[in-house]
Amino acid sequence: MKFIWGKKEFTLMIIPGANRRTVRFKLPHSSIYIVPSVILLVLIGFFVTIYLMNTHSHRTRNNMQQAFDGQERQLVDQITLKNSELEQLQANLIDLSQQANDFKVKLEEIKKIDHVIELMSETDGTKGTKGTSKKTSALNTQQPNGKNSDIGGSDVSVTSQDVSLLVNSTKEGLFSLVGDINALLLHLNESEAKLKEAQYLRSITPTLWPTVTHSITSGFGVRIDPFTSKPSMHTGFDLDGEMNDDVYATADGKVIEASFDNEHGNHLIIDHTRGIQTEYMHLNKMLVKRGESVTKGQKIGLIGTTGRSTGSHLHYEVQKNGKPIDPAPYLITDRKDELK
Ligand SMILES: [Zn+2]
Repeated sequence: MKFIWGKKEFTLMIIPGANRRTVRFKLPHSSIYIVPSVILLVLIGFFVTIYLMNTHSHRTRNNMQQAFDGQERQLVDQITLKNSELEQLQANLIDLSQQANDFKVKLEEIKKIDHVIELMSETDGTKGTKGTSKKTSALNTQQPNGKNSDIGGSDVSVTSQDVSLLVNSTKEGLFSLVGDINALLLHLNESEAKLKEAQYLRSITPTLWPTVTHSITSGFGVRIDPFTSKPSMHTGFDLDGEMNDDVYATADGKVIEASFDNEHGNHLIIDHTRGIQTEYMHLNKMLVKRGESVTKGQKIGLIGTTGRSTGSHLHYEVQKNGKPIDPAPYLITDRKDELK
């Protein structure tokens, strides 16, 4: 290679060998600055590219790390939240289980009340006491398992098996409770219907004394007639009383007669349905009218001596299907007891 410096240019000759042709490059003088500059620029570009690529890669790695850290934190937060929820659920479950036991105890108390109501409805009214009911309750009367009074022992952490057992026992307990409640509701409905029927029967049965005094001057049955002095049938009770003493309806009913005749004087007849009627004779004054509904214990008249009577008294009769019957078994309660 040979280098020849000219006036405006320089020549670069490459002589490969004796038998081969010489290669010449004519270049301007300025190329001696341009070529290294181009090489330098290329090198700068190369290093800048490498630097930028490296920076980008580093940033991407950082971003990925941050994203990963964020996801990890989120997962940890979620796990913490789930654990907290699980603990709350366990606490709720234990609470529910205790409430179920408390409820079972209360249910036993309600069953006892239900039994008392049943006894009351069976012995109420005029049916008389049947004695202790031997009917066994359809309800399950087993004692509750829960023993809330025994608290103590060491504090042992709960395992998932314990929780599972508690879930199963609580489910069984609640299932059993639902069955008991349904049976109890059915029984209570029956008792309520019986009690209402007993109350209704009691309201329409003449169990009340019609006067304040309980003094019977002449009973039901054959007696010597005070007017004829001959034996005759006395169809009711004569109850002693002062003039204008109160006379009360002995049961709920409807006034079907309120009139005067020479024998009965001012007299009232009250119909109590089911074939039962009561009659109140010799009244000084009648305080209700025919067609009027009256309630048990209501003041309906004043004692007098009108009609076939020798002095102030109330002739009181109970009639069943149109025939007078002895009022004695019916006269059970006093008005002041009835109005309590
Ligand atoms: Zn009489």
